Amino acid sequence: MDIGLIHHQLKEQIPHQYIRLGESMKEHTSFRIGGPADIMVLPDSARQIVAAVEICRKNNCPYYIMGNGTNLLVLDGGYRGVIIKTAANMKDCKVEGEWVYGQSGILLSTLSKLVTEAGLEGLEYASGIPGTLGGAVAMNAGAYGGEIKDSLEWARVMNPDGDIKTYTKQQLELGYRTSIIQREGLVVLDCGLKLRRGNREAIEAKINEYTRMRKEKQPLDLPSAGSTFKRPKGYYAGKLIEDAGLKGARVGGAMVSEKHCGFIVNTGNATAGDVVALINHIKKQVKEKFGVELQPEVKVIGEP
Ligand SMILES: Cc1cc2nc3c(=O)[nH]c(=O)nc-3n(C[C@H](O)[C@H](O)[C@H](O)COP(=O)(O)OP(=O)(O)OC[C@H]3O[C@@H](n4cnc5c(N)ncnc54)[C@H](O)[C@@H]3O)c2cc1C
Repeated sequence: MDIGLIHHQLKEQIPHQYIRLGESMKEHTSFRIGGPADIMVLPDSARQIVAAVEICRKNNCPYYIMGNGTNLLVLDGGYRGVIIKTAANMKDCKVEGEWVYGQSGILLSTLSKLVTEAGLEGLEYASGIPGTLGGAVAMNAGAYGGEIKDSLEWARVMNPDGDIKTYTKQQLELGYRTSIIQREGLVVLDCGLKLRRGNREAIEAKINEYTRMRKEKQPLDLPSAGSTFKRPKGYYAGKLIEDAGLKGARVGGAMVSEKHCGFIVNTGNATAGDVVALINHIKKQVKEKFGVELQPEVKVIGEP
């Protein structure tokens, strides 16, 4: 893989200010952890994503699509290949009646604000989720009884061969923190959501209540990637971890939050290696004590 050649080809298709070499992933993940990506591309259009993927494919170069990096752990050796980040420049969005159309990189918090101003309800739960619309579709993100599946109607996606197709909500197979996007390596380009007319004051009151609950329960003062593990059927991951005696457990700079055991936090100088070792320790302890197999929700990429 010739990174110099790939960089050159990318520059022919994408403005040079949208292309970074040796970019530290600490700057692009909510964990504030991660080695460098060989190349990072910050596209502002579907056309640029298609071009970047096409160049990677032709050069046999791995690529990874990310939103805002809020569910992502990049290992300390960094990523060999191209990371395409949508959160920087793919942020167009418009509200028309009860419909909302957005590029994949718009933040859920921004979207939630826009629809509230338009008097639309149905995205209140999303106001405190720090990811993008594309990331939310890939993960079927949700909170407080709502999930993106409730309002998403369609997503325009690109498959690994570069073909673009519009998938309906049903075709996206959205389940608990999963979708066809992840299973088939699709890239979300833009989406359409249908919301409901509501009372603006009531919508704002709900958002304020969710914000208060998050501040009270979650360690928002320290870098993390949200819930480290998926919720196992019939249990809560945080409760299992706490009952296993792991509150405040540490490996290096990574720690099980004392405020919410479902979160691993970076206390300042954690490496990805620390986080991985802590994840493995938690999995082992919870399996031994309760016979429950915890599955990470956080995506792990890169070289150790
Ligand atoms: C403090 C905190 C609180 C959180 N609270 C919640 C919560 O309440 N509920 C919840 O569900 N999550 C929560 N999260 C986790 C995270 O915000 C969500 O999973 C979010 O949907 C991830 O979006 P992102 O854009 O940051 O995706 P990233 O972290 O960048 O990527 C996550 C996954 O999505 C894929 N992806 C991203 N964009 C695209 C795209 N355009 N096309 C295809 N695949 C894509 C990536 O490849 C990766 O597999 C929280 C995180 C933090 C740090």
